[in-house]
Order: sequence, then structure tokens, then C-alpha cells
Amino acid sequence: MWQKFFALVLLALPLPAFSQGFSVTVLGARGGLEDGNLSAYLVRPLNEDTGVLCDAGTVLNGLEVSEQKNAFQFLDKSNKKTENHVEYVLHNVIRAYLISHSHLDHVGGLVDISPDDNHKPIFALKSVNDVMSRDLFNGEVWPNMGNRGKNPRIGVYEYHDLKPNIATDIPNTSFHVTAYPLSHGGVESSAFLLESKGSAILYLGDTGADAVEKSHKLLQLWQAVAPYLRARKLKGIIIECSYDNSRPIHLLFGHLKSELLLQELTALRNEAGVSLKGLPVIVSHIKPSLTSAEASETRIMRELSSGNIQHVRFIVPIQGEVIKLY
Ligand SMILES: [Zn+2]
Ligand SMILES: [Zn+2]
Repeated sequence: MWQKFFALVLLALPLPAFSQGFSVTVLGARGGLEDGNLSAYLVRPLNEDTGVLCDAGTVLNGLEVSEQKNAFQFLDKSNKKTENHVEYVLHNVIRAYLISHSHLDHVGGLVDISPDDNHKPIFALKSVNDVMSRDLFNGEVWPNMGNRGKNPRIGVYEYHDLKPNIATDIPNTSFHVTAYPLSHGGVESSAFLLESKGSAILYLGDTGADAVEKSHKLLQLWQAVAPYLRARKLKGIIIECSYDNSRPIHLLFGHLKSELLLQELTALRNEAGVSLKGLPVIVSHIKPSLTSAEASETRIMRELSSGNIQHVRFIVPIQGEVIKLY
């Protein structure tokens, strides 16, 4: 009898929200110098064929390198097999661009691909869309591919201004996105919290540390994200670490270096009140060094590993590779 009672109670309990993870295809990993491999992350919910591109420093070269590394095999399973997946991914998988700020290492690939792109929304804070429509797609630097600003407007891209802290649905995907302003050496940059079916992933564009920027923007972001950590909904963070610790503070230009990223993760832990152990942290925007014999990635990862008191799982993104976050 009591077994029947418990079975009935279990049936009556609300099911936990179906929580899935994300697939991140790295179209561009680095934060400067290396054209053809600049910030661009294709984020999809696992088991879904559509997603968004977080920043677009590199588009076509990233798609081609990804194709060479078989990153788009998921399309074969869903009968989307074509000779070459590049065109299909550009036109059918990437359903929107999320642009953190309008520095060229975040929008250069978008400019280059625009003549062969299909109609898509660009989601960004108003200040970012203002710069793109006024100073980039303005008919002079480049034809006006957008739907704002100088005529003639070609209108391939449709600007959508995100209001900070307010979730917005991304059409033709299962995502909704919330933007948070970041301080980037005098420029407004953005973080995007992407949510789908009970899971979340946080992407940060370029940002300085609060202590250096004399700002509370990252603290406010950590406060907003803390409930997702406590509920175990946050599957990973993509955050920049442009420089190693040898970089002097006055030459950071609104970026993080290893010790500042570690400090910010401790600030996140303090806001969340729960351990970050095992949380995947994808370390983006590393700037290559032309002078050091040792790769910047090697040095930065050594510094991050040795100071990893929050025991997060640091991941170095490599162009064309897929990172799955559960
Ligand atoms: Zn950048
Ligand atoms: Zn920047």
C-alpha cells in the first residue's frame, strides 16, 4: 500500500526542468594580431541545430577551419548532409549575431562575410548598435548592410537593441538572452547570459577588472549570475584573459590578465555562496606575443592553474574545435 502511496506522491511532484548543456564551436579564439582567428563562438543548445554567434571577429575562416576539423558532423545526423557544411552553417545554423562591442577584432568577420550572408538580427546594447550603424556599416567604411543609418540601406542585418538586465527571445532558436554592460577601458562592452530549457551559459566580451576600471560592472554581473550557479543551471563561462601577469596595470587597456581573472572568479564565488569547483571556464581573447619564445596560452594557463583556488576547469579554446558543456 505505502509503495503505491509514494508512487502517487512522486507522480504528483513537479518534474525538474529538463536541463541540457551547450555546444560551443570556436570560430575564432584569439584577442588580436592573428587575422583569421579572432573572437567568435558559435553556441548551440546540445541536440539542436540552431544557435547564435557570440562576436564575429572571424566568420568564414572559422567556419572553414571547423569544417576541416569535422566540427559540423552533427548536421549529418539530422539529414543536413551536404558536400560542404560551411554555407549551411552560415545560412541556417547561425540565426543571430550577439555583438559585445564594436572593436574590429569582434566585428571584422561580420563585415567580410556580409555580402554573402542572409538576413539576420544583430543583438547588442544600444551603444554598440549605434557605433556599428554610424561608423561601420555607414556607406563609407563599408556599404550599409544594416537597416539603420545612411541610405541606401541594404538591410541584410536588422539591429535589435538589448536593454540591460532584461531577457529577450532570439527568434528561430530556443534561446533567450540577457545583456549586462561591461567596462572596457572607456568603451561599453557586454556580457550575454544565454538561456535555453533550464540551462545557461555566460559569454563575456572584452572587460577590465572592477578594481582597475574603478567600476562595479563585473560585481553586478556576478550578482545577476549567482542564482544560476546556486541552482546548478550555469554550464560554463567564456571570459577573456588577454595578458599574462607580466603586463603592467597601466597597459591593460580594459582587459584582464591572469591574476585579475582569478580575483574576479573569487568575487563570483563570494556572490554565489557556492563552490565553483569543476565549472568550465573557457579562456578567450588571449593575445599572441610576437616577442616571447613561449606561447601566451602556455604562460597564461600556467598562471591560472597555479592560482586556481576556486578549482574551476580552465579550457583554452582552439579554432575549429567543439567544446561541450554539460
Ligand atoms: Zn577584443
Ligand atoms: Zn575590445
